[in-house]
Amino acid sequence: MILKKKHFHEVCGALHLHTTYSDGGTDYNELIRTASDLGLDFIVVTDHMSLEALNDGYEGFHKNLLVLVGYEHNDSNNLNHYLAIGVDRVFSECSKSRQYVEAVRSSGGIGFIAHPAEKRHYFGYFPPYPWTSWEVDGYDGIEIWNQMSDWVEQLKSWLSVIRILYPRRFIGSPPSELLQRWDRLNKKRFISGIGGVDAHSRKIRIGFFGFRIFPIKVELKGIRTHLYLKKSLNRSAFDSSKQSILYALKNGNGFISNYRHADARGTLIFIRYSNGVIACPGFSKNFSLPATILVEIPNRGSIRLIRDGELIAVVSGCHAEFPVHKKGIYRIEVYRKEKAWIYSNPFPLIAY
Ligand SMILES: [Zn+2]
Ligand SMILES: [Zn+2]
Repeated sequence: MILKKKHFHEVCGALHLHTTYSDGGTDYNELIRTASDLGLDFIVVTDHMSLEALNDGYEGFHKNLLVLVGYEHNDSNNLNHYLAIGVDRVFSECSKSRQYVEAVRSSGGIGFIAHPAEKRHYFGYFPPYPWTSWEVDGYDGIEIWNQMSDWVEQLKSWLSVIRILYPRRFIGSPPSELLQRWDRLNKKRFISGIGGVDAHSRKIRIGFFGFRIFPIKVELKGIRTHLYLKKSLNRSAFDSSKQSILYALKNGNGFISNYRHADARGTLIFIRYSNGVIACPGFSKNFSLPATILVEIPNRGSIRLIRDGELIAVVSGCHAEFPVHKKGIYRIEVYRKEKAWIYSNPFPLIAY
């Protein structure tokens, strides 16, 4: 394997977090302390319709943790939730998804469709909040794996109390229909994928007992987004560090993991073109075929190559090299002990 860490700097973070500025149960200080203790490199906090934390000075480096403050927009029916990142105001005048997707884009921010395929079967008083405006274009990416939706979808009966006590055990995989949609969308233009925690850490009460479902320390040990940056984050250069994170999120330069099944830091998922160029996911300029997709993971797994939504090869172990001869949208998925562990962003080997 010719990949070396000098080609990039990997950072690992948690996205889509709620705090006491909206309906989350954790305040910023606790969130920052916990994320730092867990060794995360960055977090992106997205309270509902609020950027108050930006005005209160929370965005920036807190020791080695880079904290970015975005917000989650919703339409007038509380559907079509949208994560706006890198913006400096809440577009409260925009009540339709087309308006806020456009507003985020024209202000220079980036936007991700949140929990697009959310379904809930049991709790009628917590309705699902899916994306229904697929005709609207102009978003940068979609949240292909939402930890909270994934977990809530499995709450089907009161036997589910075990799922409340051991929440991470019941995180499954991104919805297959959403992955199919993502693959289809990527044939028209590049759509980045992120993993979101959708952390709320709400307190609930059952009889005399009050406790938190998913305490923040547990929430942050689940779905994580890893990015390959050209330059490492630099505590004394906040603006350029923030821009590198936004660039990598927008361009899909990385992958998503579920920490529950193993720490995926150190994973290498790259492509080597026949002209010698080595590129990370999301990079499509001037590609040349044949090429080789290279994967190296820190623990054994079942490494799967997906092309245009179809599984075309599987290798078990810690590394794989997949020769690629045909154009298409390629992705890597890794399962560990039959559990969904890693999802790469696509290698779009087509001319848009
Ligand atoms: Zn939401
Ligand atoms: Zn949310």
